[in-house]
Amino acid sequence: MLSYQHIYHAGNLADVQKHALMAWVLDYMTAKDKPLSYLETHAGRALYDLSSEEAAKTGEAAAGISIAEAWFDADHPYRRALAAVRTQFGPDAYAGSPLLAAHLLRAQDKIHLAELHPGEADALGDAMAMYSAKIHRRDGFEMAQAVCPPAPRRGVLLIVPSYEIKTDFDRIPGIIGKLHKKWNVGVIALWYPILKDGSHLPMITALEFQNLPKTLRHEVRFPPAKDKHRMIGSGMFFVNAPWGLEAETQSLSGKFDAL
Ligand code: SAM
Repeated sequence: MLSYQHIYHAGNLADVQKHALMAWVLDYMTAKDKPLSYLETHAGRALYDLSSEEAAKTGEAAAGISIAEAWFDADHPYRRALAAVRTQFGPDAYAGSPLLAAHLLRAQDKIHLAELHPGEADALGDAMAMYSAKIHRRDGFEMAQAVCPPAPRRGVLLIVPSYEIKTDFDRIPGIIGKLHKKWNVGVIALWYPILKDGSHLPMITALEFQNLPKTLRHEVRFPPAKDKHRMIGSGMFFVNAPWGLEAETQSLSGKFDAL
């Protein structure tokens, strides 16, 4: 039974890192007039209300996007997409990764989103109703294996597990290796938490050991949302990282360092 709900964490500093980098990647990839595929294994509900009781309870958005939005120029793709979502859904709306992507992608692009939690999948369907996204109510890793290589072949896969299932850390390197074999041109992006006890580290070592092409690892640190929380930072690991992404990660690191 899945209990994780992203509404408690939407717009936190981990989302800022992940969503800012993904927005940059999609903006870069859509600059070329060639269609692409966008896939997500763990989509979430896509539209979050930051004035909700759940979001207010943790205060993570207040310590996240509320502070961090000013880090980005008004024409940064993350800010542009957030502004468009607010215009559409109201001042407290925050876009999860599927909605951010939908705002940055074009009519010729294809979107595949997996979400296993029934309530989150319903909400995802509602939030994405005006976009021609395919919603897969199934395990996201199975969806990715089934859809890859996607058509169009050019594209991006985002993997953001909630790591509720502890074996995720062990099996993700193998899953990514297999997906890359099936889809060698795909940009694969994995989000992971940086944990106080270092229990995420074997996964990173195993990912790096595979010698996948054009890998890029970016990590930021921030104070835990609560003293007893294990997460002390956020990481992204890319395969086939687009040209220019490294400079973007360096610029983002500078912003987190100033926190
Ligand atoms: N990608 C979202 C974003 O950045 O806005 C956040 C997603 S949240 C961290 C993880 C989501 O994955 C949850 O909504 C959870 O219900 C869903 N989930 C958990 N296990 C799953 C699985 N095996 N397949 C698909 N979805 C899953």
